[in-house]
Order: sequence, then C-alpha cells, then structure tokens
Amino acid sequence: RFITFEGGEGAGKSTQVRLLAEHLRQGGLEVVTTREPGGSPGAEILRHVILSGAAKPLGPLAEATLFAAARADHLDATIRPALAAGCWVICDRFADSTRVYQGALGQVDIGVLRQLETVTVGETRPDLTLVLDVPAEEGLGRAAARSGAGADRFESEGLGFHQHLREAFLALARQEPERCAVIDGRRGIEAVAADVRQVVGERLKP
Ligand code: C5P
Repeated sequence: RFITFEGGEGAGKSTQVRLLAEHLRQGGLEVVTTREPGGSPGAEILRHVILSGAAKPLGPLAEATLFAAARADHLDATIRPALAAGCWVICDRFADSTRVYQGALGQVDIGVLRQLETVTVGETRPDLTLVLDVPAEEGLGRAAARSGAGADRFESEGLGFHQHLREAFLALARQEPERCAVIDGRRGIEAVAADVRQVVGERLKP
C-alpha cells in the first residue's frame, strides 16, 4: 500500500508520517517512510540543488523537470522496490505537491505537469492521500516559527500565498475524493494522528 501526505507549509506532515508508521508497525506491518523532494540518494542530491537555491537560474518548466527527475529516481530506487517487497510506503509529499506548487501556484501548465506525471509516476499512484488542512494564518505562523532552523523557500511568503496554497490542496482533494481525504490539522498532534489512523483503517483496512 502506498500512502502520501500532502499540505501546505507547517501543516504537520512529517510528524504524522512518523506516527502513522509507528502505528502500522505495531500492527505488524513492514513500513518504509520517505519524503519528497528526495527519498533516494539521487533524488536527495536534486533536493539540495532545488531547495538551496542553486537552481534559481532555471525557468519554471526546467525546475518542474528537476522535480520530475527526482521523483523518477525516488520511485525507481525506493518506492517501487519497497512496494514490490510487500512494504507499506508512507511518503511526505508526492505528485500532488507538484500540481500545487509548480502548477496552481507556479507557472507551469497543468497539462504539461500531467504529462510529466504520466511519464514518471505511471501506475504507481498512491492508494490514499491524506491532505492535512490548516488555516492560512496558522500555516504562516507555524512556518515562521520554524524558519529560524533553515527556512524552506516558501516559508517567508505572506498570508495570500498560504491561502492560495490551502485552496489548491482542498480543490485537488475534491477532484479525487476516492483517493484523497482531508484531515483537520488544527488540533493537537494526537487528535490529528487519531483521525489519520481512522481514515487509514476505514479505507485501507491494514
Ligand atoms: O515538505 P517540506 O515542507 O519540507 O517541503 C520542502 C520545500 O519544498 C517546501 O518549501 C515546499 O514548499 C517545496 N516544494 C515545492 N514543490 C514540490 C514539493 C516541495 O516547491 N513539488
């Protein structure tokens, strides 16, 4: 089974990835946790290139192909082998982040992004995508609070950006309700984790 977490900056994805993995392991499952951009030695190199700002001279399409290259490597080196070995894979961000950041909020045509997605992802689509939803004010506040410890490239953006980001993830979840579930990420870590466990239990019956 392949589960992805999506959401804006400071939505709490990495914490929930960890807690869900612990829960599933306690149930006796083999679980691989991973993240994007990155998740394989090759893709981590591209992550560094993209997030360090070294790729700034690239235009939006070239940058989107870097994300696609990272995803192709991540799938080949990490995700597909783990799924083939019978593991559950939980990934912090995946192709939906590209649709949102490079598409809805970026400058790359969504049709082009879908073509890239077809080539890189192919049949390896998530069985379940959990969208952690937090109000824009909260996303902004959480992102600002952690930006001392190495700000990501969008964490200094204003409220409008975070609103747009939230709307784009919610719209995407509405488009594919069978695959996606929206989780209210405002509450405490344990309450959110309980919701996540419930949705996973209902939809994937681990
Ligand atoms: O998951 P995390 O929030 O740490 O993401 C790292 C950074 O990469 C974030 O600033 C995120 O917005 C950005 N990103 C992106 N396009 C993607 C995936 C992540 O711009 N497709």
